[in-house]
Amino acid sequence: MFTSIAGRSVIVTGGSKGIGKGIAKVFADAGAQVLIAARDEAGAAAAAAELSAGGGSVSFVVADVRQREDAQRMAATAVERHGGIDVLCANAGIFPDKRLTEMTEADWDLVMDTNVKGTMWSVQACIAPLEASGHGRVVITSSITGPITGYPGWSHYGASKAAQLGFLRTACIELAPKGITANAVLPGNIMTEGLAGMGDEYIEGMAGSIPLGRIGDVADIGHAALFLASDEAGYITGQTIVVDGGQVLPESLEALAAARG
Ligand code: NAP
Repeated sequence: MFTSIAGRSVIVTGGSKGIGKGIAKVFADAGAQVLIAARDEAGAAAAAAELSAGGGSVSFVVADVRQREDAQRMAATAVERHGGIDVLCANAGIFPDKRLTEMTEADWDLVMDTNVKGTMWSVQACIAPLEASGHGRVVITSSITGPITGYPGWSHYGASKAAQLGFLRTACIELAPKGITANAVLPGNIMTEGLAGMGDEYIEGMAGSIPLGRIGDVADIGHAALFLASDEAGYITGQTIVVDGGQVLPESLEALAAARG
């Protein structure tokens, strides 16, 4: 049995939609006090209201993680509302499709600023309260795309998701003397509002390429984050957990077909 996380103060960046909302729900259902951060106020307010209606303690702050001042205000808001910060889930990220031949400097910078710099500002802003908690946890949402796989249109995105892990491996050493662990979850294909809009045929085709035979649920990522935030994961730092239903493992589609007989 894991030690309860009830009452702990948790920030989830990008918690208004998709995976972040799923992470926020898992923590809220476990009794944590959750602050979600996003740019769109209406979306963040709606998500906080929906998650609170389920009995959770969830509020929101409007913040753009690309801006250092916003990240600092986000951290200050959590301290003000919850009395501190125990867990930062640095999840906010974007994945616009752009082929290499069409890539502009603005395309590249937007993805790097959001996914890499936004992660760094979020972590930096939370360091002092995470240290004060005595059991600070950072959980970064990276991806299989970049660190392990590639996908046409996502060279900038893949670079940003791999960069998050490079950041992690030094950040965790700097954070260790402060009693803070930092780890990353690498999702495969996860069912979010965006993916649902791709249609049943696309989703069935995608599910067929995954050994466990289904697209992941946002709660699958939330549960991995909850584990990394637990007291019992206190000796794990600088590590990654792939949560992809085995997607990256088959050497070929034939290998997958052979397993299914
Ligand atoms: P999503 O549904 O588009 O949600 C993205 C969230 O991030 C929203 O809450 C969005 O709110 C917020 N956000 C975007 N830019 C922001 C900024 N500059 N400042 C603050 N918040 C910002 O995306 P998702 O699919 O859940 O992806 C979440 C994370 O999981 C990303 O890091 C992504 O790389 C990773 N991931 C996703 C998948 C997948 O299958 N979906 C797979 C692997 C990894 P606003 O727009 O209101 O700011």
